[in-house]
Amino acid sequence: MTLDTQQLAELTARLRERAAQLREEIRSTLERSSDETHVQLAHTVRDEGDDSFLDLIVHLNLSDIDRDAQELRRIDAALLRIQEGTFGYCSDCDQEIPWERLRAEPTAVRCVRCQELYERTHVSPSTPTM
Ligand SMILES: [Zn+2]
Repeated sequence: MTLDTQQLAELTARLRERAAQLREEIRSTLERSSDETHVQLAHTVRDEGDDSFLDLIVHLNLSDIDRDAQELRRIDAALLRIQEGTFGYCSDCDQEIPWERLRAEPTAVRCVRCQELYERTHVSPSTPTM
């Protein structure tokens, strides 16, 4: 791991800030809904930690907040990787992801090369995986 504690602290702070922003967006969108189930769900959106409400959102298939929910999930996963000490390594080739890339995109799970390959091979859901 080439990231020092200061770099990790910087990313952690940014990820937490972004997560709080996303939770707020999700909550206000749910609260504006005319569907009582959505309004109730808004009350389960907490300020930090418990993001189990994301599962419910996925089940409800709410396209408005689906993107936010997915980003929040990626942020949670990144924060977990930081805690576990596995953060900063490409999930495909195990190489260290360059600091510049992580800084631009803290939730990145792949190095640039693997990401490009992934996007090329996963464009269509029907693409067979070898
Ligand atoms: Zn890679």
